[in-house]
Amino acid sequence: MSVVSDTVLTYLPAKRKQTPSGWLSFNAQCCHHNGHSADTRGRGGLIANPDGGISYHCFNCGFKASWQPGRNFSHKLRKLLQWMGAPDDIINKVALEVMRENEGVQAKERIAELPTFNAVPLPDDAIKITDITDFNKYSMAVLEYMAARNLNVDDTDYYWSPSLGYRDRLIIPFYYEGRIVGWTGRSVVPDKKPKYLTESQPGFVYGLDEQGYNKVFAIVCEGQLDAIHIEGCAIGGSEISDQQAMLLNRLQKQIIVVPDRDKAGSKLVERAIELGWSVSMPDWPQELMDIGDAVQRYGRLYTLHSIAMQAEESPLKIRLRAKKWFT
Ligand SMILES: [Zn+2]
Repeated sequence: MSVVSDTVLTYLPAKRKQTPSGWLSFNAQCCHHNGHSADTRGRGGLIANPDGGISYHCFNCGFKASWQPGRNFSHKLRKLLQWMGAPDDIINKVALEVMRENEGVQAKERIAELPTFNAVPLPDDAIKITDITDFNKYSMAVLEYMAARNLNVDDTDYYWSPSLGYRDRLIIPFYYEGRIVGWTGRSVVPDKKPKYLTESQPGFVYGLDEQGYNKVFAIVCEGQLDAIHIEGCAIGGSEISDQQAMLLNRLQKQIIVVPDRDKAGSKLVERAIELGWSVSMPDWPQELMDIGDAVQRYGRLYTLHSIAMQAEESPLKIRLRAKKWFT
């Protein structure tokens, strides 16, 4: 708890529900300040994190506000408190206290430099794949996609949402230390743009929670679905930020990068060399473009085995191998 979460919870509407994941839902008070009609369907959501941070999301007008220890007391947070009916002198007192505490917290963060991640809600009305009871053409297409791509319900908590804009997507939650801090929705319709709708935070690495003590290496790839296949990590693109590198190095394992077979992938190889990591570009046929394709052809176990066996540490060998991988 913190002075911020205490204050926000004090002024939250008394009529509210709690979801199993810890979100409180209630009628949002932001909407009519943002040109929307008032919320009567409990579409305001708030979660208080154990560290004292809070995240507020409104599914009606789209207003968001959040706070984490060490962060500034934002203009949006002030607005939210005002709209919830907190008096200005209370709000000013909280803002002042946050400013004072920050001087200490920020000094600590500079030493650790590790990113922190807010909890975020999944798309509206998202339910676990295993909880689907409405087998319509959209949910069926998602289940068929999973079957065709060898994705299993025990990999992770896959989600699906019947709401417009999400109903033809497979939703993959991003966990960090057990909390959902982002997600991606993969279109299951061929050629549909965008292929992925993603909510992610700077520095986030997918799959860190899965890298337990029993693993000697951590495989790092670009996409989350590829990571799921091999219980690896995903950086969510072809660039590794310094914060992502720090989170991966902190695992204290051999890091093996598997680049996609495209131009961006070749940049990723140079970045991995710079970080002193291993790179694996297994001897797969030319037409297999990524881990997902290899799993289709060979199954998960063989794919994992070929990645581990063909990991290279020497920059010279990595660059030689890259010539074949990227042609
Ligand atoms: Zn609203």
